[in-house]
Amino acid sequence: MKKRIASYTLALFMILWIANCTEPYQVSIENSTRILKTLSSDEMRGRHALSQDIKAAEDFIASEFKKAGLKTLPENDSYYQDFNLYSVSMNEVDFLYNGKQVKSSAFFGFFRSSSFSIDRSSTKTVTIGSLDNFRSQFNTYRNSEEDLLVLVSQSHQDDFSRYQSFFSRPTRTMELNGAGNVIFLLTNDAPNSFQADFKNKVESFELRNITGMIEGKRKDEIVLFSAHHDHIGIRNAVESDSIANGANDNASGVTAVIELANYFSSLRKPERTLLFVTFTAEEMGGYGSQYFSEQLNPDEIVAMFNIEMIGKPAVEGPNSAWITGFNQSSFGELLQKSAEGSIYSFAPDPYPQQNLFYRSDNATLAKLGVPAHTISTTPIDVDKDYHRVSDEFETLNVEHITNTIKAIAKGAEGIVSGRDTPTRVNPDNLN
Ligand SMILES: [Zn+2]
Repeated sequence: MKKRIASYTLALFMILWIANCTEPYQVSIENSTRILKTLSSDEMRGRHALSQDIKAAEDFIASEFKKAGLKTLPENDSYYQDFNLYSVSMNEVDFLYNGKQVKSSAFFGFFRSSSFSIDRSSTKTVTIGSLDNFRSQFNTYRNSEEDLLVLVSQSHQDDFSRYQSFFSRPTRTMELNGAGNVIFLLTNDAPNSFQADFKNKVESFELRNITGMIEGKRKDEIVLFSAHHDHIGIRNAVESDSIANGANDNASGVTAVIELANYFSSLRKPERTLLFVTFTAEEMGGYGSQYFSEQLNPDEIVAMFNIEMIGKPAVEGPNSAWITGFNQSSFGELLQKSAEGSIYSFAPDPYPQQNLFYRSDNATLAKLGVPAHTISTTPIDVDKDYHRVSDEFETLNVEHITNTIKAIAKGAEGIVSGRDTPTRVNPDNLN
């Protein structure tokens, strides 16, 4: 009996000893500073998604994921999630409409094939009439899955010209020779006959998201922590500085994702599976998050913590953050509840007129029903450094950043442990 008590005591000591060895990771100003400075250094040259410059930042993030002990995703053999983005521009066309040559000022389009033809017998036509809302109809048709000729009433001449000059840039697409080509033609004439052969120039870019995971007990319940790592690259020089460093946008968010990976890796195996992702090409239209969302079942994502621009304190003060799309799910309320009694607080996004819920990577997942929200703190309406070369490390408040990361870690506790589950977003309620 004595022997048994002795061995129980020994076992108890061992458990205590092991527990002691795995002290939770401390999110620190030092480590956050190191990550922020690296990602926003001039050597990273503004991390433009279509440039080679971004690779250095991606390699750095992958090495941080490795240091944090993250596993690669089951379908990947590295932390890189690679995909192609194509940039397609019209090179040559012979366009006849009702027997007449169409002038280049009368049409523009979205090109998603290296070459294609349209004609009266095989191409669908639709009309934006004088009584239709040009903008909403334009948005309905622009991403058509099949080839489409959109006939725009000449009463929309002004809108047409504005859109034409904006969209005369190359079309970007992740699917080449599969998705629809859409031509907008300004005409009042019914389409008795038309025929055009488009020959396009295609440029291909290799892009990558950085992904890592901590496998939980529940493999099909995922909590996602994300931030975009790309920025806007080189801009026109201001006082001889031409590098948009993107320290706040969004080295600060990436720092949070890395530190959260370090923190959750230091804890016991979580109940839910945790994914840590940094997206590419957010600044160009969210291609990274779009690709990511197509590689897994969005129904399995229980919550998405997307982190953007936490480098400067909110108007409410340094110990607060806001959540976009607060009323779209119970995610924000759960975070608020978790922060009760602490120095930190979460509030609804104070800038609803800025449509921030729709302007970051969370929107792609929210449209699939995921409680996907962006957590941010920067007073975006008055921020002087937003998308400027002055978005540098020196403008950041690192103590505020680390406090925000700690608050997100604490705020996520209930969801990570499986105790809390936010309600789903209803895509029908979204714009
Ligand atoms: Zn951003």
